[in-house]
Order: sequence, then structure tokens, then C-alpha cells
Amino acid sequence: MIKIKKVREENDKFLAFAEKSPFYPDGKGGQLGDRGKIDTALVLGVEEREGLICHILDAPVEPGEHTFEIDYLRRKDIAIQHSAQHILSASFLRVADIQTLSFHMGEEFSTIDLDVPQITEVVLQEVEEMANEIVRSCIKVEIVETNIESAKNLNLRKSLSEKVGEIVRVVKIGDFDLSACAGFHVSNTGKIGIIKIVSWEKVKKTLTRVYFLAGNRALRDYSIRVSVLRELSTLLTSSVSEMPARTRILLEKVKDQAALINRISEEYAKYLSKDLETHKIKGINVSVYNGFDDVARFLPKYFQGDLLICKTSDGYQFSSEKIDCSKLIAFLREKTQGAGGGGTKKGSLKTSAPINKIFSLIDNYLGVI
Ligand SMILES: [Zn+2]
Repeated sequence: MIKIKKVREENDKFLAFAEKSPFYPDGKGGQLGDRGKIDTALVLGVEEREGLICHILDAPVEPGEHTFEIDYLRRKDIAIQHSAQHILSASFLRVADIQTLSFHMGEEFSTIDLDVPQITEVVLQEVEEMANEIVRSCIKVEIVETNIESAKNLNLRKSLSEKVGEIVRVVKIGDFDLSACAGFHVSNTGKIGIIKIVSWEKVKKTLTRVYFLAGNRALRDYSIRVSVLRELSTLLTSSVSEMPARTRILLEKVKDQAALINRISEEYAKYLSKDLETHKIKGINVSVYNGFDDVARFLPKYFQGDLLICKTSDGYQFSSEKIDCSKLIAFLREKTQGAGGGGTKKGSLKTSAPINKIFSLIDNYLGVI
């Protein structure tokens, strides 16, 4: 039973406070908190607040004693990720003398921040191999409670935090790692199954953040990667190991073809600029192009008439040496409830108005200026 002291509503959730709780709080020691139920209400989060344990619930409960249920599968996953972190941190220290400064466990993946601005793939690989060797060795994980003075004499991986109380809880992984920790851990390293580093990046200029997965999380990630790679392998008609080279060739081709399309578009625009459909509106020669956006981009460069209108995929592009385009566009924008603008010689208008409507509006505009 759990004894709820007080309950209050906050942001459509219900906060149930207790002095003592079997639910482990979120964020304590960098680890995720427990989930489950209090009575029939779902526990959505657990926090240390106002000197009490605060359970965030999806439904109200009365103050008093209630039954509870903890999600033990989730707790098992938390224990696996947390134990994997101890092993990885100890491996970084053994392989490359790199200290772990902090640890964060998320719902999807966990991270450790290492006290180095960069790291080589060789080190990461050696660390991962050592960590998985410890997993395969099925080493017993013991929890030893000792007083602070004796703890100080132990060869702990990290010096004790100042917040630690008189009794220190030490997690002992054989003679591989000793560290003070309050979270959940597996009873044997074999229960972790697998530890996989999936990514790393430089953070805060001086640290390296390493992303890792362990146990079922790693297996699920492996399944996703296999299925994505299988699909890519079919699409690219290549084996997994040939994929990067094959993709580079394809991207090069795309780049070359884009450059070719640019060149052809410019050639075509040059030729087309002398032969555009032209209408006379209030003594002004208005030429129109309704075709490819790529060609429209180059037309103003070669256009010699009074006003050029190019129909583009989302509206019109205007260019002129004779008429102030920014003023014309402002007028059209207001009349068509469109968007856009530009400079005196060039600009664009986003609108769905048809070209005939644009012509008649230009006729109005030229009549008043
Ligand atoms: Zn721990």
C-alpha cells in the first residue's frame, strides 16, 4: 500500500504527494523514474517536490492508503541501461583514461558526457568490445552498503558526491568497477545482453556525448537498421558494404545533371527571350513566359522588352527596366490578396490569380500611374 498525504490538480493532471514511495523518481542519478498505477490512476511521472515524492497521475485519488502497481518490465529496462552505463564508463577509463562527467537516460536512448573534446573511432570500438566482453563474462553485480569513511578508502571510479549521506551504496561489478550509485542495476552483467554505441558528438566545446543502447533497445535498433538497409540495398541494387560508394556516385550524377539543366535552361532562355508572346497594354509591351521555373530564372538576364511576366509554379515573376516592379507588385498583391515583393527591377508575386486577371489589373495600374 502507498499512503497519499495530499492531492491537488495542476495542468489537467493530478499530483499525489507521499512521504515515502515505492516509485523511483525521474532524473535521480540521471535515471528514468518508475511508471505504473496508484489505485486505477496511471502514474505518468514521479518527482521529488516540496520535500515529498510527487506522483503525477492521469486521474484523481483521495488522500489515504491505496494499492499500487509498478511496471517491472520498464524497471528491468532501466536497470539494463544503467548497468550498461557503469560498464561503458569503466571501459572508457580503462581503454583511454577518459572520465565520464554525466549520464542521462532517455525513453529512447541514453547518453554519457565524456571529459574530452573528441574521440577516435578506434577508442570507441575498443571500449565497446571491452564492455561487451564484460557482458559475456556474466559477472555478478553486488550492492554493498558501507559507511562514508570506508567508502572513501575503496577504489571508486568516481569520487563521492558531496550530497552523499552517512551510508554509501556501492555497486560492485566484480573487480571491474566500483561506484557509488542509488539507481537500479542488473544482478549479473549477462542480463544486459548487448551494449551498442550508436552515435557521438561534440558538446559544449570541450565534451564528447556518446549515445548508447543496451538489451532489447539495442536489439530493436538493430532490427530497424537491418530492415532499412535491406530496403536501401534493393533500391540501390548494391550490397550493404558497397552502399556508401554507390550513393556517392548517384549524388555526383544528380549534381552533374542539375548543372546541365542549368546550362540548357540558360541557353534556352537566351534563345526564347527574342521570341516571347507579347501584348501591348497602355503602350507598354508586356511579354509572357509560361513554362519551366528553371528557364524563367534566366529570362530576365536576356530580356530586352518593357515588362516580362513569367508564370511560375506558385505565381508570377516580374522584371522590367521601365516599370518599377516593387510598386506594381504591391498593387497586384493588394488586388489579388497575394504575397510577395521585390526590388524596382525584379520581384515575385505568390497568387493563384489567372494570367487574364493579372493583365486586366496591369491595365488598371498603368491607367493610374
Ligand atoms: Zn548506477
